[in-house]
Amino acid sequence: MRLICDNCDTQFEGEIGSKCPNCDSNAVVECGETDDGEMFEIFINDLKEEKQKELLEFLGLKDAKEGNFDVFPIAEIPRGE
Ligand SMILES: [Zn+2]
Repeated sequence: MRLICDNCDTQFEGEIGSKCPNCDSNAVVECGETDDGEMFEIFINDLKEEKQKELLEFLGLKDAKEGNFDVFPIAEIPRGE
């Protein structure tokens, strides 16, 4: 799986528990980022204002922050094989 070092932001392939090849840190987490372009992320701000309101209403949220949609995507679409 794709990992990212929390310490120096190096990305590499490995298993959870691996050490960072760059700085030897154990602070390594699974990489959820899209730097490699494998996931297409859609954020709430990508929607028209009217749709943003509809979505929040649909989810029963007062604002995007409440669902953490100010930082996380509302949808992720994997790249076609
Ligand atoms: Zn590192």
